Amino acid sequence: MQLIDIGVNLTNPSFDEKHQAALDRAYAAGVQQLVLTGTSVDGSEQALELCVKFDQSGQRLFSTAGIHPHSASDWNGDSAQRLRGLLNDRRVRAVGECGLDFNRDFSPRPQQEKVLEEHLALAVELKLPVFLHERDANVRLLEILRGYRDHLTAAVVHCFTGEQQALFSYLDLDLHIGITGWICDERRGTHLHPLVREIPRGRLMLESDAPYLLPRTLRPKPKNGRNEPAYLPEVLREVALHRNESVEDLAQHSTASARAFFGLPAVD
Ligand SMILES: [Zn+2]
Repeated sequence: MQLIDIGVNLTNPSFDEKHQAALDRAYAAGVQQLVLTGTSVDGSEQALELCVKFDQSGQRLFSTAGIHPHSASDWNGDSAQRLRGLLNDRRVRAVGECGLDFNRDFSPRPQQEKVLEEHLALAVELKLPVFLHERDANVRLLEILRGYRDHLTAAVVHCFTGEQQALFSYLDLDLHIGITGWICDERRGTHLHPLVREIPRGRLMLESDAPYLLPRTLRPKPKNGRNEPAYLPEVLREVALHRNESVEDLAQHSTASARAFFGLPAVD
């Protein structure tokens, strides 16, 4: 079985000095390729450095470059040029993480919207897919995306946690959908159970979002409570269950979707 983790925060300090061990466990669990999420300019540079350091083959580790909406206030005159430099590296496969988060509002909403548009303009210019974050901002995200969609190659709403109407609106725009261990959370994720069935093949991808979002259905529970990419098969299992698909079938089509979306090589 081959899996691709399309979103892992490997630059998080909780992985420091443990990168190789976490990657070895991921590979052993069938997670053959990983896309490291960049959430700031510095963090995107670090993500690319990790790809180079821990994958000499150039076939397994890739990254994104962008500024998370929480940090939209950090956008400055240098940001576009520094991101463009990163996005020209062959390891960097998508613009993002970028988007809108009206749940926590860590940056003012007009600033979030401006910075999102800067990212979308970069994606159009460089013909790269977009890795989107959205929380409580479905309507505004759609309004902004509609102005760019015809010029964007592809975009994924990562860690989708919304309701049916939001899902259908994204699918109508021909976006991809990323599903995390949120679906394994009996407190807040069960609304996703009937919804994942509505995502067509070719549009569904899986992600750990590690070290966040440890799948709560995982047994035995890891003592440190921290998620890692090696637990992606638990997300696979839960999504397959609710789609009424075999894990092999879901692994096959979600991996094919991720490989096509990010333009990743086949692994020997
Ligand atoms: Zn996110």
